[in-house]
Amino acid sequence: MAMETTLSILKPDAVRKNAIGQILARFEAAGLQIVAARLVHLSRREAEAFYAVHRERPFFKDMVDFMVSGPVFVQALYGEGAIARNRDLMGATDPKKAAPGTIRAEFADSIDANAVHGSDSAETARTEVAFFFPTLAIHRR
Ligand code: GDP
Repeated sequence: MAMETTLSILKPDAVRKNAIGQILARFEAAGLQIVAARLVHLSRREAEAFYAVHRERPFFKDMVDFMVSGPVFVQALYGEGAIARNRDLMGATDPKKAAPGTIRAEFADSIDANAVHGSDSAETARTEVAFFFPTLAIHRR
């Protein structure tokens, strides 16, 4: 499987719960490496720009309101099949439907406050990693 870099965000609910360490441990245990990271409180403009693809969706405003409600932890994860592996670890968007043992099953409260974001394709991974880490080199080891 290809070595990939993907974007992961621990959303304000996960940061408020003081769960950054517990969630990062899951990525590391699954063989994903944190190759860039920072804690940031997004402005409304940044959150709207990041989620621009969802602009027309009915929940757009709620989603942006939530994402600016507190700091988020953004990171680039690198590893074999990192995009799908991250999505598997996250679980379904709606925590009520997330498989037991996934991050969302364990840490998420609702479809808005669903603990984590993860890029869903190679193309979004490229743009989302560049959004937060424009100078990150293609990582090889
Ligand atoms: P993800 O890739 O699993 O995060 O899901 P999507 O890309 O479909 O949606 C992006 C984010 O929008 C999700 O993580 C949710 O926080 C939010 N979202 C998605 N669907 C809904 C919905 O039906 N209602 C609300 N309120 N939020 C939603």
